[in-house]
Amino acid sequence: MQISFTKNTNPGKMPPENKLGFGSIFSDHMFVMDYTDEKNWHNARIIPYGNISLNPAASVLHYANEVFEGMKAYRWADGSIHLFRPYENANRINISAERIGLPQIPVDMFVEAVKAVVKVDESWVPHSEGTSLYIRPFLFSTDPELALHGIHQAQFVIILSPSASYFAEGLKPVKIMLETEDVRAVRGGTGYTKCGGNYAASNRAGDKAMEKGYSQVLWLDGVERKYIEEVGAMNIMFKIDGVAVTPALNGSILGGITRKSCVELLKSWNFPVEERLLSVDELIGAAQNGKLEEAFGIGTAAVIAPVGALSYKDREYMINDFKIGPLAQKLYDELTGIQWGKKPDNYGWTENI
Ligand SMILES: *Cc1c(COP(=O)(O)O)cnc(C)c1O
Repeated sequence: MQISFTKNTNPGKMPPENKLGFGSIFSDHMFVMDYTDEKNWHNARIIPYGNISLNPAASVLHYANEVFEGMKAYRWADGSIHLFRPYENANRINISAERIGLPQIPVDMFVEAVKAVVKVDESWVPHSEGTSLYIRPFLFSTDPELALHGIHQAQFVIILSPSASYFAEGLKPVKIMLETEDVRAVRGGTGYTKCGGNYAASNRAGDKAMEKGYSQVLWLDGVERKYIEEVGAMNIMFKIDGVAVTPALNGSILGGITRKSCVELLKSWNFPVEERLLSVDELIGAAQNGKLEEAFGIGTAAVIAPVGALSYKDREYMINDFKIGPLAQKLYDELTGIQWGKKPDNYGWTENI
């Protein structure tokens, strides 16, 4: 792929690495590429980070034709920079795009674009323990008309945001709330895709949870409101009576790469793991009789987010005395060890840029 390059003549400054936060600081450059039915993907370019100009009729602004990815670049002790399973993200954006009617991006093109823009801005990959460069590829329709004639024009953009360690003081348990009214997704809908619309559908319950002091929503299935699905932007795993349990991918749950990696690690350790239907009654029953030993969210941003308390119908259930459990800790240590090059990568998951 030919990628043109326009250097940012007014580069920004990386803030102190202990002040990075998440997703509000951006590097000097971004990758942009255009699509039309006639020309296919064209005009791949790395240009200074800045505003995007859109026709006010651009269909993404009206009909939410948008999908995205979330991944990270990690700096190893020797200074080299690595991605984690980037081909999984490339495949997934195409699964999402197919559902929305957006054009496919050839997998090699996706990975090449990510590597190219990270390389240009490699000085923005932070050095401190636990920090990384968060990578946000996104794809949206630009057709300048309100009529619904399918998608014939699109843009693919990659922006980069240096990010602090998600848990600056180590793994800290969060409190989550089971949502019993709103649903995030239904089978046959877009729940299995990483599309902006899923997040729009989640906002109201998220705000309600925040108001009550919970940091995330735990969703139930959209049909029976009976089975556990996932947390706001993470998958969920429990340890129930010695067994790791995560809801099976049923069409309305996003297939996380962290989830997939955890299941693969657990299997390699011969740790019992089940991907299956898990009803809220079974979960609350386990919490009541002491069999719910651990709960944790799993996703790229936090890697592992231990859940210390779960609220359901105005009752709060404490999990593992609001402490990190040994399984969550072990998965966290193994995954982050591989990502930062401190543990051997026996699976070929890391990709040098
Ligand atoms: C991105 C995302 C996840 C986690 O996926 P990873 O690939 O592990 O980062 C889980 N659920 C939702 C809704 C997501 O958007």
